[in-house]
Amino acid sequence: MGKIVGIDLGTTNSVVGVIEAGRPIIIANSEGTRTTPSIVGFTKNSEIVIGDQARRQLVLNPKNTFYNLKRFIGRDWDELDETSISVPYNVKSNDNGNVRILSPFTEREYAPEELVSSIIRKLINDAETYLGDSIDSAVITVPAYFNESQRQATKDSAVLAGIKVKRILNEPTAAALAYGFEKSSSNNVLVFDLGGGTFDVSLLRISNGVFDVKATCGDTQLGGNNFDSKIVDWLAEGFLEKHKIDLRRDRQALQRLTEAAEKAKCELSGLQKTKISLPFITTSDDGPLHIEEEFDRKLFESLSEDLLDRLLEPVQVALDDSGWEADEIDEVVLVGGSTRIPMVQQLVKTLVPNEPCQSVNPDEVVAIGAAIQSGIINGDLRDLLLNDVTPLSLGLETIGGLMKVLIPRNTPIPVRQSDVFSTSESNQSSVVVQVRQGERPLASENKSLGKFRLSGIPPAPRGIPQVQVAFDIDANGLLEVSATDRTTGRKQTVSISGGSNLNEQEINKMIAEAKSKAAEDRIKRSVIDRKNNALTLIAQAERRLRDASLEFGPYGAERQQRAVELAIQDVEEFIDDDDPQELEISVSSLQEALFGLNRRIAAEKKIDSNPLQSIKNTFGSLKDELFSDDYWEDDPWDNQINSNYRNSRYGNSRDDDPWDNDYFL
Ligand code: ADP
Ligand code: MG
Repeated sequence: MGKIVGIDLGTTNSVVGVIEAGRPIIIANSEGTRTTPSIVGFTKNSEIVIGDQARRQLVLNPKNTFYNLKRFIGRDWDELDETSISVPYNVKSNDNGNVRILSPFTEREYAPEELVSSIIRKLINDAETYLGDSIDSAVITVPAYFNESQRQATKDSAVLAGIKVKRILNEPTAAALAYGFEKSSSNNVLVFDLGGGTFDVSLLRISNGVFDVKATCGDTQLGGNNFDSKIVDWLAEGFLEKHKIDLRRDRQALQRLTEAAEKAKCELSGLQKTKISLPFITTSDDGPLHIEEEFDRKLFESLSEDLLDRLLEPVQVALDDSGWEADEIDEVVLVGGSTRIPMVQQLVKTLVPNEPCQSVNPDEVVAIGAAIQSGIINGDLRDLLLNDVTPLSLGLETIGGLMKVLIPRNTPIPVRQSDVFSTSESNQSSVVVQVRQGERPLASENKSLGKFRLSGIPPAPRGIPQVQVAFDIDANGLLEVSATDRTTGRKQTVSISGGSNLNEQEINKMIAEAKSKAAEDRIKRSVIDRKNNALTLIAQAERRLRDASLEFGPYGAERQQRAVELAIQDVEEFIDDDDPQELEISVSSLQEALFGLNRRIAAEKKIDSNPLQSIKNTFGSLKDELFSDDYWEDDPWDNQINSNYRNSRYGNSRDDDPWDNDYFL
């Protein structure tokens, strides 16, 4: 059986943790860093790049580099706000109102799940390399405020990456799990998680290894990015006033502004003031224009006032829901990179007077918690029990369009609730169960999670038939709804994935597509590899010819030299042809000719070793190589081919190529 890991699939950064020797640890990625940017991109050659590699191409290739994907996961187009859509790449709605992302380089549109699955695949591949073991399942964290569709979509992404999801865990719960690990006292804990794109507040009661989530609240559209935007707007508006050019309309300039803004923001967490300098940001009729601005904490804070206000509300709602007063909170846990911003820390202090707990690393705490949960599932860790809650109320639409709540928000899960409903008209033969999630009294204002019909109800006056509707939420927060006609026993059950971007069929189609694409990619790759190898061989042969004529003059090994020259011409002729066989034949002829030439050179030297001594001194290393005993075993051009192969575009990325996995073959 493969291993299980914990994944913090962040909006901005993702982190993988695992239990090793009974303790949770963070696994560094193949670039050697412990957090991986949640970014996917495509290069000009339609190759996929993920993480730091993708982040590096953000400025130059903004239309093919996708970040903040978590904001699109499991969401309908209509639900997205302006900030989510204003990204430098193309996002659109398909005919079903689902979000689709376009890559001009691959000329394809992608579901967010598909792109996120490549991130998961990379995290898993890197972790497998580290562990030297295969990984077949994971605990994945999501913001506590994620609804059913978003959870389902996250699961779908993992399935697309070939990973079984053992548990979908709320991020703040994971943080508290990491925080409470090995603690034995009782505590009321507030987890304040401000990442790059989401904000979560959770109130938990931790007591002797039992974790009880009392309330959760948050804002899925609020995070560090919003702070960056404030700085970007300030810079762009200043520039607009001065030069009458709106830099936000230029994708590359916008990306550079955003990066500079984020950098300045992070610097201001430690310093009082900083400089933002962006040379050659654009050009006007008068020549190149630059940005050179002083930026300080006070200005940053005044720009961000409304964001601070937005942070207050979810905290208040969570407190109200839990029935706790602020002074009943024993500990505050800060999670997410944006809690490093001093004004955010101050705000937290004004809410809860206690000094926030700093002993957990805000970037890694969620993945540590996920790893602990994976350890509990695996049996590696014991004595911990986790009680989670539903983040939003679940119910169904009743006559008149009202929302009837079956499971109120913050109910501990797993849970099963049922209620009996009847018909609204006489002789009504079927009822429609429309499942919704949300807090609004009018059903239509809550998110629709799906709908099904129970038919075959025997004729009866209005209000007489009894239909029992049951909601079942499993430990992952995934919902199953059933409706039973009590008279006939007829039952209809659906697993709710209705609001998700992808249905099962689509997922299967994508898996098949990914598989066939892998085959196609392999063919493409082998053509390129063959060509690269041929080019390497030609270069080697030419060098060998040069060496030979240097040593023996142009006619020293005439027959063999000529044979190599002809063979080179042959290879050059077929190198751009599509016929792999011709190329292969010509390559092996060249290899043979080269072999002959090498032999001849070696023989020549044995006969005439003395006169060569002076040349040997001149070309010391080359001659040593030519005359070494293991020359034939350790053929230098053979090696060259191999190392070139390793450095070739494909060779290098082989290990972490998401499509290069058994799963897709
Ligand atoms: P997510 O959970 O969304 O993946 P993270 O917890 O990794 O996010 O936080 C990323 C955010 O934290 C980014 O917006 C980043 O700019 C911000 N951040 C990281 N370090 C600092 C810092 N020193 N000061 C302010 N913000 C920071
Ligand atoms: Mg996070």
